[in-house]
Amino acid sequence: MKALVADSLNEKGIEKLQKVCDVVVDTSITPEELLETINEYDAILVRSRTKVTKEVIEKAENLKIIARAGVGVDNIDVAAATEKGIMVVNAPESTTITVAEHTMGLILSAIRKIAVADESTKAGKWEKKRFMGMELKGKTLGVIGMGRIGSQVVKRCQAFEMDAIAYDPYLPPHVAEDMGVKLYEEQDDVLKRADIITIHVPLTEETRHSISTEEFKIMKDTALIFNAARGGVIDEDALYVALKEGEISGAGLDVYEEEPAKENKLFELDNIVCTPHIAASTKEAQAAAAVIVANEVIDCFEGNTPNNIINMPRIDTSGFSQTTEYLEVCEKLGSFLTQYVKKNPIKELNITYKGEITKLQNKELFKRTILQGVLNPITESPVSAVNATSVAESRGITIKEAEAEESEGYETLIEVKAITEKGVSSVEGTFLHEVTITKINGYKVDVKPEGYMFIAKYKDIPGSIGAVGTIFGEENINIGIMQVGRDISGGEAIMVLTLDTEATADVTKKVKDLDHVKDATGINLL
Ligand code: NAD
Repeated sequence: MKALVADSLNEKGIEKLQKVCDVVVDTSITPEELLETINEYDAILVRSRTKVTKEVIEKAENLKIIARAGVGVDNIDVAAATEKGIMVVNAPESTTITVAEHTMGLILSAIRKIAVADESTKAGKWEKKRFMGMELKGKTLGVIGMGRIGSQVVKRCQAFEMDAIAYDPYLPPHVAEDMGVKLYEEQDDVLKRADIITIHVPLTEETRHSISTEEFKIMKDTALIFNAARGGVIDEDALYVALKEGEISGAGLDVYEEEPAKENKLFELDNIVCTPHIAASTKEAQAAAAVIVANEVIDCFEGNTPNNIINMPRIDTSGFSQTTEYLEVCEKLGSFLTQYVKKNPIKELNITYKGEITKLQNKELFKRTILQGVLNPITESPVSAVNATSVAESRGITIKEAEAEESEGYETLIEVKAITEKGVSSVEGTFLHEVTITKINGYKVDVKPEGYMFIAKYKDIPGSIGAVGTIFGEENINIGIMQVGRDISGGEAIMVLTLDTEATADVTKKVKDLDHVKDATGINLL
């Protein structure tokens, strides 16, 4: 695997990557050079300088993951990446503590008027009476948006002996309760009670200007408001009036409706503390981002699911300890089945999860991985868990999932049935130290799906196995393992071979032409 680090990335992240793949660091790469060379890489790591455009993605035949060492992904064409099955990951948690600490900085600076006092003191004014402050102890913190950053601000304010209340309609109440925070169903209930209001919501249609004229009127006239989330959540015109008219007593901003904010009428006021969108800027956050994305890339290379995939729903598999093993099972079953049904287009896939795996509520990742296995051998552009569902949809494949408690003595079994115009084919597998196929079309077998395989359906009569073996011998193809499964003596049977070299179309035809053979298929699982 080969990774390109296209923007300056903390060395801790680079060192991690170098342990698992070739790393090219070219932080001055031009857009033209990127277009020319992107095809060589399996991963690209960027910050905000490099633009990973649709054109770049179209040329990236080997790319599996685009990693943004930071939060925003405005410089990445996520839709184009999704279409091509390329994961886009970021490091949203890398800045959490840094932003929470900066919020504390804004709060302390505003209530103790540190910024204006600093300016006055350095100007030799010694204005002791001008800077009367306020204590945090015993005051009420009102958090709007109790996500990663909001909850870290709560922790820090609790250390200052503040009471915390919050508004976050998407947060399960017990999460707030566990943190000792009273959650209100209406934002206004928080706004009217809080002494310090702090905003930690994303900018959405719902949150844009969600703090405006009416909301400032509800707040205490002693309240202060802080925003280190996104400009636009607070209506700046309304904030200006509220600060000027004394509807609230102070504010602190790190983010603005228009950035860079070089001219802003709020800057005229001395009851507001302002910083230039630096809440996330610490060495620690940068190092954390580099390490997080390096780990995400390594996870992707090693076949594990990264934590912060932006273009795929977050799938919690924590209730099942053998996720990695069964993702491998799913991939192999899918790949086997699609080759087994040959060129017959699959109309419907029926997946049945049996045993332990049924305890897992969300099996989306397993479904996507089966689809990935089914689709990859038959599609030109790569299919990953990211685009598997949409590629299946575009091919008109319906997917049905079911569960069964009974798992025939195995801890977990997964059965995949493909319905085509020609009929139904199925494969079932488990993980016994390695991926194992336990049934093909209902016949019991015990084979490792790997390398070159060959499956023949034949009539169970003396001499039929020998005749197939003879053809392979004549063709100089060595048989590793041969297994047979049958329903009744003299009935229909199945033969599964593993081969040292591939059975060519000619050989397959020779076997198929034998009188007692009904069907023969070569499968490549390399
Ligand atoms: P998060 O996703 O962990 O938390 C956001 C929370 O807001 C979630 O709990 C969500 O349920 C809640 N929410 C969504 N819509 C809401 C609404 N209408 N009302 C109330 N709550 C709502 O995100 P985070 O990592 O905590 O980041 C919070 C904000 O901080 C984001 O806007 C992010 O862009 C911003 N941020 C700013 C900087 C900076 O440099 N200033 C750095 C990092 C993050």
